[in-house]
Amino acid sequence: MYPVSLQKLIESFRMLPGVGEKTAERYALLITERDPEEVREFAQALMDVKTKLHHCRICGNLCEEEECSICRDTERNHRQIFVVQSAKDVLAMEKTGEYHGVYHVLNGLISSSRGIMPEDLNIDALVARAKDADEVILATSATLDGETTAMYLDRLLKRECPDILVTRIAHGLPSGGMLDYADEMTLIHALSDRRRMG
Ligand SMILES: [Zn+2]
Repeated sequence: MYPVSLQKLIESFRMLPGVGEKTAERYALLITERDPEEVREFAQALMDVKTKLHHCRICGNLCEEEECSICRDTERNHRQIFVVQSAKDVLAMEKTGEYHGVYHVLNGLISSSRGIMPEDLNIDALVARAKDADEVILATSATLDGETTAMYLDRLLKRECPDILVTRIAHGLPSGGMLDYADEMTLIHALSDRRRMG
């Protein structure tokens, strides 16, 4: 049995996806071998993402200021809104360098199985923004929850802002963080092959 402090660190690493007991042990033991200053910086970085980051007042993306750098960028087309599930999807799309509009981060998907309702998501702010937009691109994933959310938003936007164009990307965003070149090409095509909803 490990000392309590080491055991706690192992359990913390096990929170991460794809990290099993063996890997968690290896990570924790590596930490014990690092300089105190390095470890302090690591711990501080963990704290900072919880204390300094919050959701952009306009789009819901993660940022340290009141409004994110994309919303503050006057070079971008603020009349085109790309709607995604999470901040991770914003990063993925930005990596392609092919999109020049703005984003709206829902921070989740409507899910009857997990009891997530429209009012739990960043939807009211989207409707308010859409009134001044030309196009809203629904880019939620091609999963059941992603499609349900896209259909709900399409109906809502057609009712609340009948003059705007509502489109859906050709296929869902690749899920799971790391984006390779193939994923980037998929994303670029998903955007260019988007279709009018309904
Ligand atoms: Zn923003």
